[in-house]
Amino acid sequence: MSVLEKDLLNPTLAEVLTAFRLDKMYTRGKGSLLYDEEGTAYLDFISQYGAIPFGYNPENIWEALEAVRSSALPSLVQPSMPVEALRLAGKLAEITPGDLRYCTFCQSGTEAVEAAIKLVRSAAGKEIIISAQNSFHGKTLGALSATGKSSYQRPFRAPAPGFLKVPFNDLPALERVMEQHRGQVAAFIVEPVQGEGGIIPAQPGYLAAAGEICRRYEAFLIVDEIQTGLGRTGRMFACQHEGVEPDVLLLAKALGGGLVPMGACISSPRVWNEDFGHLHSSTFANNNLTCAVGVAVLERLLANNQELVRQVADKGDYLIKRLHSLARRFPQVIKEVRGLGLMLGVEFYGLQNAGSYNMSFICEAGGFTGLLAGFLLNVYNIRLAPFLNESMTLRLEPTLTITYEEIDYLLQALEDLCTILEHQDYAKLYRFLLDDCSRPDQIRDYRPFFRGIKPSTLREGEQISNRFAFILHYPGPEDMVCGNPSFEQFSREELYRLMEWQASLPEPSVCCHMPAIRSRQGHVIEGWLIGVPYGGREIMNKPRHEVLRSLTQAVDIARELGAQVVGLGALTSVVSRGGRDLQNKGVAITSGNSLTVVIALEALYKGAIEMKIDIQKARAAVVGATGSIGRACALLLSEEACNIVLLGNSKARLTSQRRLKGLAGDILTRANRKRKDGVNKGMCCWLSQVIAGMEKLKSPWTLPVLDQLQSSEEIGWDIMEEICRGLNIEPPLVVATDIDRVLLDCDLVVAASNSSDYLIYPRHLKTGAVVCDVARPADVSPEVIAQRDDVLILEGGLVQLPEPVSFGPNLGYDDGVTLACLSETILLAMEGDQRDHSIGAHLPMETLDYMRTLAAKHGFCLSGLKMGSQEIDSQEIANICERAACRVGKEERPWPNQKAVP
Ligand code: PMP
Repeated sequence: MSVLEKDLLNPTLAEVLTAFRLDKMYTRGKGSLLYDEEGTAYLDFISQYGAIPFGYNPENIWEALEAVRSSALPSLVQPSMPVEALRLAGKLAEITPGDLRYCTFCQSGTEAVEAAIKLVRSAAGKEIIISAQNSFHGKTLGALSATGKSSYQRPFRAPAPGFLKVPFNDLPALERVMEQHRGQVAAFIVEPVQGEGGIIPAQPGYLAAAGEICRRYEAFLIVDEIQTGLGRTGRMFACQHEGVEPDVLLLAKALGGGLVPMGACISSPRVWNEDFGHLHSSTFANNNLTCAVGVAVLERLLANNQELVRQVADKGDYLIKRLHSLARRFPQVIKEVRGLGLMLGVEFYGLQNAGSYNMSFICEAGGFTGLLAGFLLNVYNIRLAPFLNESMTLRLEPTLTITYEEIDYLLQALEDLCTILEHQDYAKLYRFLLDDCSRPDQIRDYRPFFRGIKPSTLREGEQISNRFAFILHYPGPEDMVCGNPSFEQFSREELYRLMEWQASLPEPSVCCHMPAIRSRQGHVIEGWLIGVPYGGREIMNKPRHEVLRSLTQAVDIARELGAQVVGLGALTSVVSRGGRDLQNKGVAITSGNSLTVVIALEALYKGAIEMKIDIQKARAAVVGATGSIGRACALLLSEEACNIVLLGNSKARLTSQRRLKGLAGDILTRANRKRKDGVNKGMCCWLSQVIAGMEKLKSPWTLPVLDQLQSSEEIGWDIMEEICRGLNIEPPLVVATDIDRVLLDCDLVVAASNSSDYLIYPRHLKTGAVVCDVARPADVSPEVIAQRDDVLILEGGLVQLPEPVSFGPNLGYDDGVTLACLSETILLAMEGDQRDHSIGAHLPMETLDYMRTLAAKHGFCLSGLKMGSQEIDSQEIANICERAACRVGKEERPWPNQKAVP
């Protein structure tokens, strides 16, 4: 076959089908089997939502078509008396309940619904059509207006006027609406089993009682049997289970025999009227070809006293019993089994709190059945229809001619699926996306690793005062494993591929709902983690407008959930220019960077003290000092240290150097201001010392410099260089882009780059160094921890919350511990502060102070130190320190190694 472009019919749908590997091209179909181009067979349990009653390419239907051809029967002969259309109408009149008689043929279900709406309105002289919530009646504008799902309607400005909805299976509600609109209701349209709505059968007695209400209020009853009709539920028509005789009955789908498009609106003489007779028509209506197919369909269904229909009832019985027993064996997995005949639904429990961010994300995004359908299709060769809108229900709707063996094969696959879900071995559901379509032979039990959402327990009378949302993504593969314990089965490369896969479906979604967190002040807030499906690489490399669209959607979700403040996790703040691109969207924004800086430096200092490093004398480095966090870290660090290397991106050397020199100037200017206020630490101390040195020298060059230091507040890079040259000392600030060259001399390192790859490897670090890695994804490669037992690597930016709450898998942290950027968001919500904070590349130092104050007020502090995702205690740090001390002697490289200022 020549290569076909897959996006020419519906590019939007093609994207979803491709994502879930449902984009097969079937080139042959026979019975219940479909075959792809390679000849692989798939067992079909969709049967085009009931439109394939006798399997693919049924003999009897082809025979009917061939008979039309061989007899040279003309198909389109309006206006006249088309013989096959009349024959089909006659048969339908005979077999449909009550006095249904007049057939308006058409080409689809939705068109049959349109005809019914016109028919009842013209007959009754009234406008209102009542339908059920969650119903489905088609997608042309009239039928769409009756369809009970607003998400289908909104973009198309539907519903049209005159359409009202009532809850399904709620007779008092129907009666109330009839009463409220007495004399205005033309009809109530209803499905005997809601198909698209998730296979919800009408309760026993509902249809009959609804018919009775209609009669009392002189409204017509339209029964939409487009999906349920013609044997599907184990009776010829589903309304016959209840002995209901509607005024209008609608058919389509199966009426086309699985080969041609065909629909019918069959009405009783009570409804027929001349306006409709004169004014409703369609070119292709009553064509002999499709009607001949309809006749063949009925003949097959009626043969041997409806033997096939009785078989459907038996097979449906068998299937539902086996499904019920499956549900009993997996009570935590299957919520409900329901349906009639061969129109069954298996509803799964929501996985919003299943210890897996991916599963919550996909359930919230409505992609759960898409994932299951992809899994069953690719791993078991079973074809099931995904509901792409929010449902947790798998629909089982095979051909009416399905065999018991085929049903058993499906049941085996469903059993495996239930075992996977019960054991929370979700990786097995994802494997096919990595092209591993082998059957899961060893399903592992991940329940011992389950971590559920743990909120604060509300006391009597306590209420939520504020709401927050936090946008996050997986910066690196290890974060994906933190969020999904079973993903430890994947290799690093496979995890990268999964992240790439996720980015192909860029819609954000909630991945955790935290119902309550209490502050030490007693404020209780609620919040949501909203995932954007980008890995670190994707978020940095995808076109910015695409990523921003996704982030904006996430902010919209947050606002709709009622969040007053939205925080930006990991690289989402970097790509939105520190949140600048997400401001003014009706909700406060914070990058969360200020508290991150405060906490990172607290951790670094704590580590330094335990490693016996004198911060005043140490050489410190900030990796990624041009970024918002790195810049503020450097400024804050300069309050304590006076020998700092500012490192920028080596891929943009010149711009980095220019920006780093600007930052150096800001550091010196700030120090000079503080020095005048009497501060004598860090860079202030250095300035005081050089001033004293210059005053002693009394050489001509010192006077203008001293003058400038005393009068002007601005101190640039050039002045610093001049001072250092004049006094022949090392500069206190160095700018660099070459990690290889400069890091080896540094005792303290803050790593805060936004690189999606590791930057710091074992060869880069000085013996005895302390690194605080705030970067997400991390800057320090895991080899450092594995190979260097003489350095202290601290995971930066971790905060201890006042109560041991946990966001499900909690990003891999202990209960009560979370990221500082998330903590900043939580703090702002607790404080009820709805202003934007920590926006842009230049974090105000006042905001750092503010966050420090809020943290103290609400009971947040630096968490225990962590190295390589393990808590590290003072004894372990002392061991590192000792090993470093031994090694220093051997290498004969004393540290600190700077030249002292005069
Ligand atoms: N009504 C019902 C009950 C249906 O299930 C459907 C199709 N799923 C329709 C109407 C619309 O039929 P069609 O897709 O042929 O327009």
